[in-house]
Amino acid sequence: MGLFHFPRMTRQFASFVWAAKAVAAYYKDRLTHGRDTKIKLGAALVAPLAETAFELGIPVFTQCELISIERDEIGHVVAAVVQTPEGEQRISTSAGVVLSAGGYPQDAERRAATVPHVQAGLPHYSMAPESSTGGGIRIAEQAGAKFVNSNSDAASWAPVSLIPQPDGSTRPFPHLFMDRAKPGVIAVGHDGQRFTNEAVSYHDFVQNMVVKLREEKRQSAWLVCDHAALRRYGLGAVPCAPGRIGRYIRSGYLKTGATAVELAKATGIDPVGLAQTIQNFNQHAVTGEDPAFGKGSTPYQTALGDPDHSPNQCVKPLEGRLYAVEVFSGDIGTTMGLDITAQGEVRDCAGQVIPGLYAVGNDANSLMSGSYPGAGITLGPALTFGYLVGRRAARV
Ligand SMILES: Cc1cc2nc3c(=O)[nH]c(=O)nc-3n(C[C@H](O)[C@H](O)[C@H](O)COP(=O)(O)OP(=O)(O)OC[C@H]3O[C@@H](n4cnc5c(N)ncnc54)[C@H](O)[C@@H]3O)c2cc1C
Repeated sequence: MGLFHFPRMTRQFASFVWAAKAVAAYYKDRLTHGRDTKIKLGAALVAPLAETAFELGIPVFTQCELISIERDEIGHVVAAVVQTPEGEQRISTSAGVVLSAGGYPQDAERRAATVPHVQAGLPHYSMAPESSTGGGIRIAEQAGAKFVNSNSDAASWAPVSLIPQPDGSTRPFPHLFMDRAKPGVIAVGHDGQRFTNEAVSYHDFVQNMVVKLREEKRQSAWLVCDHAALRRYGLGAVPCAPGRIGRYIRSGYLKTGATAVELAKATGIDPVGLAQTIQNFNQHAVTGEDPAFGKGSTPYQTALGDPDHSPNQCVKPLEGRLYAVEVFSGDIGTTMGLDITAQGEVRDCAGQVIPGLYAVGNDANSLMSGSYPGAGITLGPALTFGYLVGRRAARV
């Protein structure tokens, strides 16, 4: 609902009322509880699971890191060794150990070994938790498990921009659904040329971007939009109206120019290339067409566009002042993982099940083998295999 109403709050009264109520409730929560208490997004997925665990009296240990697993003389997994704030603890098990440590998105070494564009020197930023450093996979490998490294893609890619922080560091921001597909937004390389249909999935977008970056021998590309698009939809971390944009310009996150040539100067994009690209794009965009890449040509793309814009929900000319945000290759999680059976049991390098060892989520190899049909293809299987593994381990 928020994704629908917030961008419309300055244009539609119903959206304004919805947004005003949401903001008031948020600040009331902050005042009375010190934090937002609405259970939504990932929390909405996890909360019912946690509630069930609490109701059943299942102990949950936080701040504990799995450091190894133990197998008995016939190979069964019989214990997990965890580092707790009080020290190392051995937890014995008759049912088994389920690895769900989130794959290896923050393991720089394995990333370099499995991601060709990282090997080619391109920077890469993951949106996954910093704690997902591949420990589950490493520990399983030490117990003889097989890591599958033959997927078409090692991760679910997503373009990422970097928000400068007051301490000089940067925070990655994923460009998933909110900006690229919208009318008045295009993506260009440093030569000012478009390289993709901007409305395709974030995974496909990065695949196309990486080809461009390797051709250009550049590390980043740019999302460019006009003032109307910026205020209506926002761009990356820059909010739509009535959010303020000044601090993003001052921090250098958002570049701007009154013309294509001025924007080119601010970003280092080739001015002639950018001006020509916008001119060519606009010529067809007036009638909602994009003969070069077909932006807005599938239901997936138009669903991410602006339903209030016609004739093409994803295409309009870029007019007046322009803005740009620099984007890099990134991911929202890895797809390569441990070889598992249809029941989530981990297999060793000889293809034999390691008794009592299971993997779910991104510790398990993706059943899509690295392709990315759409959002949900990680959480859907994670939930399904969690259910299957739970039943298997509990022998029900
Ligand atoms: C911005 C963003 C948007 C996304 N949108 C979608 C979407 O719309 N649909 C979808 O399906 N997926 C989406 N994903 C992907 C999805 O969130 C992940 O694929 C999924 O959360 C992975 O689940 P997991 O259980 O494998 O790992 P995680 O949810 O990452 O959890 C792993 C946990 O294990 C902990 N851990 C790591 N090492 C150890 C250790 N040695 N011992 C103990 N604990 C450890 C980590 O701290 C972490 O808490 C998105 C991801 C991002 C970043």
